[in-house]
Amino acid sequence: MSALLEEKIAALQDQIQKLQSQKDSLIKELDVVEEKFESQDRLYRKYFPVIIDTVSKGNSAFAKACAELSNALKKKASPTKISYIFEQLKTAMIQEDIGPVPLKKKKGMFSGLRKSSDDPILDDFKHSYHEVVNSLKSTLDKKYTPKLDKVTASLLTAQDSGDIHDIRENVFSLIFQYISETSVDREKVNVFIQEIVGKILEIETKLATSYEQTSSIVKSNQGFEKVLNSEIGGLKKSSDVAASLDDLKIQITQRLTSIEKALHKKKTVDQAINKLAEKNRSAFKTGFAKLKQELQEATRYSEELEKKLNQDQLTGAYNRRAYDKKIAEEMDRFLRYGTIFSLLIIDADKFKRINDTYGHAIGDRCLQEIIKRTRPLLRKNDMLARYGGEEFVVVMPETDAEGGRRAAEKIRQTIEKIEFLYKNEKVTVTVSIGVSCVTPEDERHEQVFERVDMAVYKAKENGRNQVMVQ
Ligand code: GH3
Ligand code: MG
Ligand code: MG
Repeated sequence: MSALLEEKIAALQDQIQKLQSQKDSLIKELDVVEEKFESQDRLYRKYFPVIIDTVSKGNSAFAKACAELSNALKKKASPTKISYIFEQLKTAMIQEDIGPVPLKKKKGMFSGLRKSSDDPILDDFKHSYHEVVNSLKSTLDKKYTPKLDKVTASLLTAQDSGDIHDIRENVFSLIFQYISETSVDREKVNVFIQEIVGKILEIETKLATSYEQTSSIVKSNQGFEKVLNSEIGGLKKSSDVAASLDDLKIQITQRLTSIEKALHKKKTVDQAINKLAEKNRSAFKTGFAKLKQELQEATRYSEELEKKLNQDQLTGAYNRRAYDKKIAEEMDRFLRYGTIFSLLIIDADKFKRINDTYGHAIGDRCLQEIIKRTRPLLRKNDMLARYGGEEFVVVMPETDAEGGRRAAEKIRQTIEKIEFLYKNEKVTVTVSIGVSCVTPEDERHEQVFERVDMAVYKAKENGRNQVMVQ
């Protein structure tokens, strides 16, 4: 072997050795890098599940994104995948139902409320107002129905709190119109309705408060998002600039701890706000249940009042006021559509004598009995009323003079058969009845009444206990 060749071999061996040592040091460096990555990986896996467990409860988009992150970490997903999930997490936080929502400009009591389409509180409110309007429909006179129907229609199309505000104004003006137009002894109804108005205001105030709280949640989330953003940014930077593995460990731990704290704070604030909001929500519902109940009572009271207003206290029959209304309606109908009606006047015979002989109490019982026995002889649309004293009237729609006469005869015969016992003595009472049907010459109902009155007079003259048609 030539000396030259030996030299070359030695140089090659030298190079191989150098390469070998270079390779060893590279492998060592690689081990360090791998260890660094593994330790970072371990850190993520150690701390993130703690945070995820804190927040990933429930069904929100945020909770779902957390669960996804947890899965990705368990499956040792790539850093690209994990940072993608982080982005999703951020988006979910913004889209969360309590997430940041732009507030509207101040415009009145309900300023700053959200649109109703995705707003359960506003929808709830609309629903409750709907019930109020329906209750008013059954409470107020029929002439208010078209206006209330308009309110119902605007409730259906209401988009935001401004619309609700207008609806409330309409409802209130209707209520006040009703109060001012209802004259006869309605003071109690007025007080009642004013109470209801007060309740509506109370409920609306509660509603406004619950919206205020929603906006506090928004602020709390915005604060939390800021912390999370800055800490995640910090984490990314730390892994780039950390001088040593220990330094990196400390920095990551610090940042994770501050994320944990922010999460904990958010959770506490959210819980407190939700609790309060829930309380207000249920107060809102109870308030409306009460309101509904009170409106039902108002309806009952109003009906009772209406009945009392039209009822004769002694006999329970309709009174003069009800008669005046009914006869005017029938006359209007006749003048407009030509639908006839007949009128009867029933006058108790020699009633003064009954009182004088047996006493006023027996007289009263006779009057009660006359009504009790007459009522079943009439049709549903006929109206029996006490005109005054011992005089009664019957308005018989769509009945001609002959029909009226037959009904009167039945009444007369029924009453003459009634026997009261007074100290073993039989007490009887008879009636004289006048009948007349409306004629084309009649222009006012008083003309019909005058004819019937004349018929009664003739019946009396003829010897009483009889029916006369005029
Ligand atoms: P006629 O046959 O002419 O109708 O005789 P009358 O006595 O019935 O007629 P009059 O008009 O002279 O008297 C009506 C009487 O009816 C007088 C009154 O004592 C009696 N009366 C009126 N209202 C009541 C009442 O509410 N209760 C009682 N018990 N009697 C009454
Ligand atoms: Mg009389
Ligand atoms: Mg009489």
